Amino acid sequence: MVIIAFGKPGAGKGTRVSELLQTRGDFSPLSVGNLLREVRKNPTDDLGKALAKYMDAGELVPDDIINKIVIGAIKQSQKHVILDGFPRTIGQATAMLSEGVIPDLIVEFYVEDEVVLQRAKVRIACSECGETYTTDGFKQPRNEGVCDLCGGALVRRKDDEESIVRNRLTVYKEQTQPVLDIFREHGLNITKILNHDRSAAAEFTRAVEKAMR
Ligand code: AMP
Repeated sequence: MVIIAFGKPGAGKGTRVSELLQTRGDFSPLSVGNLLREVRKNPTDDLGKALAKYMDAGELVPDDIINKIVIGAIKQSQKHVILDGFPRTIGQATAMLSEGVIPDLIVEFYVEDEVVLQRAKVRIACSECGETYTTDGFKQPRNEGVCDLCGGALVRRKDDEESIVRNRLTVYKEQTQPVLDIFREHGLNITKILNHDRSAAAEFTRAVEKAMR
């Protein structure tokens, strides 16, 4: 089974996915951003350097790199997969569908641009595993500056700077939003969830359980 968590950067996809995983051990998350951050940790590597250039500017990494990494990982997974951050372009969506990876559930987590900008201002992320927290008390780590999950240091992400967030929202509108039309053209339904508060978590769980029946 393949589930897509879709939505603007900063819409809260990662948070909702990590909550769902606390109750569902039969799913494996595939966060493309986290996967790429892992690869770019090696600064001497050519691929690592190329990734840093795109990611720090809030631009998308080219499709050929992404498709190779992600479609292979989906096919190899022994568990159900939840995709966070894929597909983000028409090229990625068509490659995925033509490789026979057909999503069973597509959830669009919706928030307004202003909410995204506000969330980016208060977000801190684990430099090791990518888990995110906030500095406004909404999702605080147990120990200040330390990740609850892996003990890594919590830092501000470069791509959470306001000008970069604005660029990422423009990239989303131009390149990612049209992916929903491709899915609709293939007869796939989109479940839209307003992601303003915790009630979205229960709605997400219900949508997943319904898709599994
Ligand atoms: P995220 O953590 O999902 O917000 O992703 C962080 C950055 O990784 C994005 O701004 C892009 O530079 C890159 N990235 C993540 N997913 C993709 C994708 N599917 N296609 C291209 N670039 C991506």
